[in-house]
Parts: sequence; structure tokens; C-alpha cells
Amino acid sequence: MIQSEFPSALFIGGKWLPSRGGELFATLNPATEEILAEVPRANAEDVELAVQAAYKAFYGEWSETTPAERGRLLYRLAQAVQAHREELAKIETLDNGKPFKEALADIDGVIQTIEYNAGAADKLQGDTIPLGKEVVDFTWLEPLGVTAHIVPWNFPLGIAVRSVAPALAAGCTVVLKPAEETPLSALRLASLAKEVGFPDGVLNVITGYGEEAGAALVRHPLVRGVTFTGSVETGRKVMALVAEAPKPLVLELGGKNALIVFEDADLERAVGDAIEAVFGNCGQVCSAASRLLLQRSIQDEFMLRFRERASQLRVAPGLEDGDLGPLVSEEQWRRAMGYIQSGVAEGARLTLGGQRPAHLTRGYFLMPTIFEDVQPSMRIAQEEIFAPVVVTTLFEDEEQAIQLANGVSYGLVAGVYTQDIRRALTLAQRLETGSVWINGWYLGGVQAPTGGVKASGFGRERGLPGLHNYLQIKNIAIRL
Ligand code: NAD
Repeated sequence: MIQSEFPSALFIGGKWLPSRGGELFATLNPATEEILAEVPRANAEDVELAVQAAYKAFYGEWSETTPAERGRLLYRLAQAVQAHREELAKIETLDNGKPFKEALADIDGVIQTIEYNAGAADKLQGDTIPLGKEVVDFTWLEPLGVTAHIVPWNFPLGIAVRSVAPALAAGCTVVLKPAEETPLSALRLASLAKEVGFPDGVLNVITGYGEEAGAALVRHPLVRGVTFTGSVETGRKVMALVAEAPKPLVLELGGKNALIVFEDADLERAVGDAIEAVFGNCGQVCSAASRLLLQRSIQDEFMLRFRERASQLRVAPGLEDGDLGPLVSEEQWRRAMGYIQSGVAEGARLTLGGQRPAHLTRGYFLMPTIFEDVQPSMRIAQEEIFAPVVVTTLFEDEEQAIQLANGVSYGLVAGVYTQDIRRALTLAQRLETGSVWINGWYLGGVQAPTGGVKASGFGRERGLPGLHNYLQIKNIAIRL
């Protein structure tokens, strides 16, 4: 079990509490399949307590703070995360499985996110609306109130903070529910928030199952906004729950993202980026390049280099800091193996991996896996696998590349590799995704908005749009 400086308890109203039902659930280390820690299984009563605590704080102490004071508190939180950078990264590696260097990069992103929102807290302004001399009309930006944040396990703290930090900066109070697979870093964040002086009830963390704690949180009438990041299937359920008591909703869902390489591209750069874009975080990234679309004339050269580089990646437990750790859970491992079998059965050519590495008999490890000659109608070309599995498909010209890229239900990101600026921007116009990256992957930082279209969801996080998710506009009109 992990030795830690924070209690395995719910964090509600500034206190560490057991769940009302007294039940616990285990979170495993995916590299060893052993129990890492046990945390409370929150039920509807716990959700009630957490929402009431957040509600009280919203109308109490938090409403008395100025935006600048909220910014300063967030800066202190960023500094506390910096001071505990390695400890937090180790928690992520043990709980999620990712290589330690990737976990460190995640924590650096957490710090940047908190700092960005800290700086923005006192720069959010309304408008004046010119209606002539008789009426003065202006807008106030007001915080929504209590907001719920439901996050997945692939970047546990990174995704939590992506919505929690702007919500706090905007003046909301928060109830955060981490994924059941990776609840630990959110609890550690809560203890740091307490240390740096966030008032009781401003940030609450409840660990628990989605169908139970998550659903109760989403439908709670005092929750005035919901940000959900996760799968399309759960996103649909969350949307239905929100409809019971309508409130603003941000849905950040999955992707089946195309990295498109034209014959005039810088191939070395495209191959290097594709390796990271496909296999980083063991392929468990919403914006992973899970489809490689290659112009026919360069496929041999590209695939020779790509296969070679992929076969050299080292699969190892996260603390040994290889290139790929294990998948997060047995369920995800089985799911990925199911897709691999379906690809083979549908006639795609498996040219690398497809199985557990021979040297790792325990843990949810999977070799980097490549399918070639994949037809767009195959399941592995259409559905999100969320594992280190890539499918490659060939195209002849720009038009076909666009049709293939857009020919899935998802629309999160796409990438275009070409030296031709006209072609790059034509594709950028026509690709049905929330982001288009040109001659690079994972471009953009905490300042740049991200989000999906089509089944990948709606709403934008990061940057100033990320803050506006937690603000509502009030219009004031005065007759003179
Ligand atoms: P998931 O949908 O299974 O779970 C996400 C969260 O929802 C968890 O905290 C879970 O407990 C909760 N949940 C489950 N059922 C619920 C319900 N009925 N009501 C309320 N909450 C419920 O997703 P996952 O497997 O944890 O994450 C992987 C998915 O997340 C992938 O599809 C990935 O693409 C997506 N994702 C998207 C983004 C993005 O920014 N678009 C980022 C990361 C991950």
C-alpha cells in the first residue's frame, strides 16, 4: 500500500470524513495488480453533504473574496504543487501506471494550469452596451455557484485541474469526483488546498463510483454547472441526467484522431511526432493519433521508419521509466485485446505487437501495436480503442484524405503534415474537429482552447473560454 501524507477519506467542508455508508473500494497499481490504497465509496448522502458544504461556502466566505484574492490563493496552490511535484508524480505513476517522466510532465501542466487561471482571476470583465442616451446598459460576469467536475483516469490531476482551477478563479465552489481507478492525486490536491488556506467547503473531493456518486452529483439541484470528461457512452448518460434539472454542461469526450501525412511532408518530423502521438501515455489519450492517414507514395518509407521506432520502445513499470507503462486496468487491457482480435478477424494486417510483452508476466502491459491496410469501415478504424494501438490507412489525394479523416463519429483533433500552406489551411477549414495541428502534434498550451465537435462533445476548456464556462452574464439596464 502507498504511504502518504493525506488521509484516505472524503474531503468535505474542509474535513476528512469516512463515507456515510462506511464502505471502501480499492485502487490497484496496474503494474503489479496489487492494492495500492483503499478509499471511501461515496453514496448519495455523501454527495448531499459535499454539495451543501460547497453551497454554504459559495454564499459565505468565498463570496467575500475579491478576484485578486482568489488569484493569490491559486498561486499559493500552484507553489504547493510545485513543492510536491515528485510526490504527486509518483502517486500518478503508481495509480495510473504511466512512466514517471510522463507523470512529472503532467504535474508541470497542472502547475501551469493553476498559474494561468490565478493570473486571469482579476481580468474577467463585463461589457457596456451602447443603447443611446436614455438607457445605460452593462453586464456583470457572475460565478455559476456550485460546480461538479467528473474526470477520467488518464490524466487524473491534469484533467481535474483543467476545470477546477478556472471554476475557483471565477468564484465558484467545487465538488470534484475523480475516476474510481485513480482517486489518490485529487485527495492530495485537497490536502494542499487546505494547507495553503482555501476556506472550508470551497474545494470538496468525493471518491466513489460513477453510477452512484457521479450521477447523484450531476443531478443535484444545487449543482449549477457540470464539467464531464470521459467516454461518449457516459457522456450521454450525464447529458440525460442534466436534462432533469437543466444547467450548463461541458462535455469533453473521446476521439479517433487522424494524423495525416502528405508526400511533401518532413517525414522525419512526422514519424517522430507520430510515435509520441500514438504511444504516449500508452495510447490512453483522448487526442492520441489513433489513425495514421498516409499518402500512398510515402507509405513504405514512412512505415519502415515508424515500425522500426515503435519496435524499439521499452515497455516497463512506470517507476522504471520506460516508454510505455501498463494500461490502467484489466478492463482496459481486455477491451484493447478485444479490438486487436476484431482487427485480425476483419482482415487488417497486424505488423507489430498485439500481445503482452514476454518479459512482463504481471500487470496490464501491452506491446506497441500497429495495424496496416486498414479499411475505413472496420471497427478498429471507427471506434476509440484507448490503448497503444494504431491503424494506418492510405489515401491518394487531398479530397480523399478529408473524407477519411471526417468519416468517423468523433471530432476532437486532427493533424496535417505538409510543406504546402495552401493545402494545410484548406484542410484546417474542412476538417470537422475542435483543433487542427499543422506540422506538429500536441500543439497549444494551457492558454489555447481545446474541445470537440460531433460525438467528441461540446464546450471548450483551457484559455479564457475555459474560465467563461463558470461565469454567467447578468444584464443590467437603467433608464436615465
Ligand atoms: P468514463 O466515461 O468511464 O468515466 C469518466 C468519469 O465518469 C469517471 O469519473 C466515472 O466514475 C464517471 N461516471 C461513470 N458513470 C457515470 C454516471 N452515470 N454519471 C456520472 N458520472 C459517471 O471514462 P474513462 O474510461 O474514465 O475515460 C476514458 C474516456 O475519457 C475516453 O473516451 C477518453 O477519450 C475520454 N477523455 C476525453 C478527454 C477530452 O478532453 N475530450 C480527455 C481525457 C479523456
